Amino acid sequence: MPDSYEPYEVYAIRYAERDAMHNDHILNPDPHNGPSPMDYFVWAIVGNGRTIIVDIGFEEKEATARGRNLMRRPAEGLKAIGIDSTEVEDVVVTHLHYDHAGTVSDFPKAKFYLQEREMQFATGKHMTSKIFNVAYALDYVIEMSRMVYDNRVVFVDGTKEIAPGVTLHHVGGHTDGLQVVRVPTKRGWVVLASDASHYYMNMRTPNPFPLVYSVGLLVQGHKTMETLADSRRHVPAGHAHPVLDADVLERLAEETSAEVMPSIVQVYAQHVSEAINEFEAALANRDTAALEAVAHRIGSSSGSLGAMRLFATCRAIEAAVSEGDPARGLALAADIRRLTEASVAEIQAYARSRFGDAGPAA
Ligand SMILES: [Zn+2]
Repeated sequence: MPDSYEPYEVYAIRYAERDAMHNDHILNPDPHNGPSPMDYFVWAIVGNGRTIIVDIGFEEKEATARGRNLMRRPAEGLKAIGIDSTEVEDVVVTHLHYDHAGTVSDFPKAKFYLQEREMQFATGKHMTSKIFNVAYALDYVIEMSRMVYDNRVVFVDGTKEIAPGVTLHHVGGHTDGLQVVRVPTKRGWVVLASDASHYYMNMRTPNPFPLVYSVGLLVQGHKTMETLADSRRHVPAGHAHPVLDADVLERLAEETSAEVMPSIVQVYAQHVSEAINEFEAALANRDTAALEAVAHRIGSSSGSLGAMRLFATCRAIEAAVSEGDPARGLALAADIRRLTEASVAEIQAYARSRFGDAGPAA
């Protein structure tokens, strides 16, 4: 535990999302494909009288160009937790990809911590190839170049402490200059992975995200993060769509065995695939009593396997119906099949990555 430091709090602010498939996120395709949306975050590290923002997201123009659903400007998300972006002095830019480096003008007082190699990479010979420049937005790279000329970029070469206990570490891999951030918290040493691990399974399997500069350095970066953090559970993935609370599944896996866990997952998958048919029948008949009952069943079994987004949705449906607002319950239910399929796919992928292909077939 990082006893010698005052702990910080770390906030993840989700500002955008897109639909995607599981196999979009891995270099080596999985025979068990399924829906796997992607979320986009900026992070805030708060404590010791400091507020450090990690990554600054993108804005409407780039969201439209790339067909992303921008839910709020990152600065608006920060405002919702009481952080005024115009007063922020320290911003870490993990790398210059469009979804990490695009709202510089919302941070007029900030200096930007960036690895030297990232600026070189983003403006050097590799950018002549679409395979590497596709995730950069030229306007954002130019804007960051402007910050260099304004003396607002702090260039980092490797490792640097930027506040008591908060350190930056070059890992590369995904891009040549990617850095991760280590933070002392009440839970222990946390490492913000950014795109060193888009999803938990990228690092756990390991099976790298396909947009990659060096696979060797990427996999080495996973090892670096495991060394820097108290455990893998202290490394929040950079783009995970949090349908799962990995801690719940990890505890369940520790309490059970390689033989039992796959069958627990199989029983769950079977149970919810039957329940979802009942659920849709209740929806079609606008039978709110049946809807409440089946939401309760799906919610309970999903909660115990860590499918927390599905659990929360089911509980909200139950609450709406029991509070006499069936219209809200029906509205909440509209997306339930997609959410259920995503949850089952993620739990199955987790079981396979933890126990190998003894896991159940999808
Ligand atoms: Zn990236």
